Amino acid sequence: MSIVASNISKLYGTQKALDNVSFEIKSGEIVGFLGPNGAGKSTMMKILTCFLPPTSGEATVCGFNILEQSLEVRKKVGYLPENNPLYLDMYVREYLEFVAGIYKLGKDSKKRIDEMIELTGLKIEIKKKIGALSKGFRQRVGLAQALIHNPEVLILDEPTSGLDPNQIIEIRNLILEIGKQKTIMLSTHIMQEVEAICGRVMIIDKGIIIADKVTNEIHKMTGNKQTIAVEFNVKADKKLLSTIEGVVNVKNIKDNIWEIVTDSAKDIREDIFKFAVKNNMAVLSMKIEENTLEEVFHQLTMK
Ligand code: ADP
Ligand code: MG
Repeated sequence: MSIVASNISKLYGTQKALDNVSFEIKSGEIVGFLGPNGAGKSTMMKILTCFLPPTSGEATVCGFNILEQSLEVRKKVGYLPENNPLYLDMYVREYLEFVAGIYKLGKDSKKRIDEMIELTGLKIEIKKKIGALSKGFRQRVGLAQALIHNPEVLILDEPTSGLDPNQIIEIRNLILEIGKQKTIMLSTHIMQEVEAICGRVMIIDKGIIIADKVTNEIHKMTGNKQTIAVEFNVKADKKLLSTIEGVVNVKNIKDNIWEIVTDSAKDIREDIFKFAVKNNMAVLSMKIEENTLEEVFHQLTMK
């Protein structure tokens, strides 16, 4: 197990930022950590990277305890903090040399720095000071510093926030490339990002984990509604369709195809079928439409 968090709570004064949070992340997983602003994502990440102690609870990273073995934890973890704080006056290589020094990479550092520059595509901007780089390139520097000591686990706090759409795709591809060999926990607000790179999604709200699922399965967390697409053989009457029990909305998509929305997660396909028979209609096709991750997120965190 790469990360094990057990009953982590964090209080800032009287405010509870994390409330008894527990989860495990297996080696090789890429986990998306979602939640509205203020949910506790950054706090959790700071705790796992030993930048902040929890008020209570325990966590281990690669088997090392975050409180008792913080030095070992730091060796195993690469961390890209929120807003990626960098020394803007330093040249790219100079900064990476500085970070390599902190990790005491010694004689390996030059080779390692060259590899990171290559991997993160920093070569073309290598002559510049960090302050002169675009936000996308600064993120590459942030990723290079997070990776320099070849950590097993990467914790990335909103790695694509503030980037333009092209930069987002570049950084995302870079994370995918890196992720082939590492365990990654990343926070983001971009749902497509989670679907593009994460095998698993954890949603946190008000310091509590409210969903933890394989990305493909999160869509099935329908919450309080379900959408069914149905095609009849003849024209149907909207008013009549609305009388099916549990139906709250009916929309004609085209010709004899309708979208039926229900007010509960209950499967009403059988009711639709019976309705059709009763009204001398045939059902040509019927399909439950999966909610998008965005809808699931919205439904879960708006309560
Ligand atoms: P997220 O990263 O999900 O947006 P954070 O972990 O940054 O959430 O914050 C969780 C909650 O803790 C928020 O309500 C935030 O205002 C509060 N918080 C975060 N850092 C501090 C701090 N240093 N002092 C006081 N409150 C804080
Ligand atoms: Mg944050």
